[in-house]
Amino acid sequence: MNCEPFTVNAPSPDRPGESCGVFGIIGPDIDAARMTYFGLFALQHRGQESAGIAVSDGRDITVYKDLGLVAQVFNEPTLAGLPGDLAVGHTRYSTTGSNRWENSQPVFRHFGNNAIALAHNGNLTNTSDLLARLGPLTATTDSELMTEAIAREMENAELTLEDSLATILPTFEGAFTLTVMDQTTLIGVRDPRGFRPLCLGTLGDGWVLASETAALDILGATFVREIAPGEMVVIDHQGIHSQFPFADTHQQLCIFEFVYFARPDSKLLGETVHSTRQEMGRLLARQAPIDADITVPVPESGIPAAQGFAEVSGIPYTDGLVKNRYVGRTFIQPAQEMRERGVRMKLNAMAGIIGGQRVVLVDDSIVRGSTTRQLVGMMREAGATEVHLRISSPPYRWACYYGMDTGDRSTLLASDHTVDEIAAILGVDSIAYLELDSLIRATGAPTNVFCTACLSGDYPTSVPDVGGKFLLESSP
Ligand code: 5GP
Ligand code: MG
Repeated sequence: MNCEPFTVNAPSPDRPGESCGVFGIIGPDIDAARMTYFGLFALQHRGQESAGIAVSDGRDITVYKDLGLVAQVFNEPTLAGLPGDLAVGHTRYSTTGSNRWENSQPVFRHFGNNAIALAHNGNLTNTSDLLARLGPLTATTDSELMTEAIAREMENAELTLEDSLATILPTFEGAFTLTVMDQTTLIGVRDPRGFRPLCLGTLGDGWVLASETAALDILGATFVREIAPGEMVVIDHQGIHSQFPFADTHQQLCIFEFVYFARPDSKLLGETVHSTRQEMGRLLARQAPIDADITVPVPESGIPAAQGFAEVSGIPYTDGLVKNRYVGRTFIQPAQEMRERGVRMKLNAMAGIIGGQRVVLVDDSIVRGSTTRQLVGMMREAGATEVHLRISSPPYRWACYYGMDTGDRSTLLASDHTVDEIAAILGVDSIAYLELDSLIRATGAPTNVFCTACLSGDYPTSVPDVGGKFLLESSP
């Protein structure tokens, strides 16, 4: 691979290590690559930038990966060229638009008679420390850094993949949900906080690991359980066992998985995500009632919250925006004239429905605010007499260091504006955000199992504030 050295104190043009989809499968007579393809297809929403599969036939690992959607990267001939009954897969996400082939995963390393492939969801927060400890490495991302560290340990200390991971994993800090393999073993890991999800299922006599339960459903696999924070589950053709290599574990699942990221049909912490989003909408309607004529969701992420909002407020739920289902399937840049019309590529308002109405527009979150501002403008153009914005999560004020690639603080609309200022910037008649305790209540989970850093500024681990790739912005 054509990699640049991983240098400290040189902010990268892109942010490596994003919230992604990871998958793994092992089982007798399983067409592992084909099953991984369908698993990744179900995890497409977690990353649209690149897709990849590593497969082992027991002797050799073969990797195929490229930029693009799962369905663009793979076809029958490429899958036919990936024989084996053990595989890991990855879909990679980035909102900041970095699209370099080198950053696609699984990451692969070959040394001696060994080979490993690794798929990562999350961000490490101690890459500088790791580099200081490990010495010069050829790696452009934290995922490659992890892979090299694991490979070195295997090579130098002549350890198995499992023993190498048990030694090396405790040196990593931050968010790392991993599916890793060598020629014969599949290993799933969640960091000790469990920032990102990972679940386990069975398929016949085989085993499946996936970021979300929806990927088990698509394969007809049976959900067994979530991998615990700090758990390393080791599966080979002989069986399955777990290790807990970290000294201290405490669940801090990313709350944004419930707000936005996970598929509505996935289950997290035992709850169907869709139901929790409806409950967010119900609580929002109680918290911030408004007199209006129609409740309009911003598809698709705002739909369940809008349903809940309409149910409690009695303001009829009405489709007022249509989403182009095929958005994300083109890599052709819009012409400049079109770019000005930006969001209309994705969403278009129906004047016949919006015209003359007092609209409550419901969405799950505002990050940069650019989409929302255009949507509000579109509502006005379509003839809305009032536009009231209701957001089913608190203001997104703080940068994420654990795998949401939402940009640094300066790009976040709420980082340096009050809610009233935000209303003025967006041009709405009123705005309300769901309060954090209500959001947590809607998930049905206890308060202390979440990372809420992006909403509260309470970072569960230390985050880098100088140098490295994940600079805290100097503007507070
Ligand atoms: P904004 O107004 O901040 O430009 O966009 C708000 C929209 O972004 C919301 O509809 C929300 O669902 C969506 N959103 C929230 N987080 C993310 C993310 O990480 N990636 C992408 N692509 N969209 C997001
Ligand atoms: Mg959305």
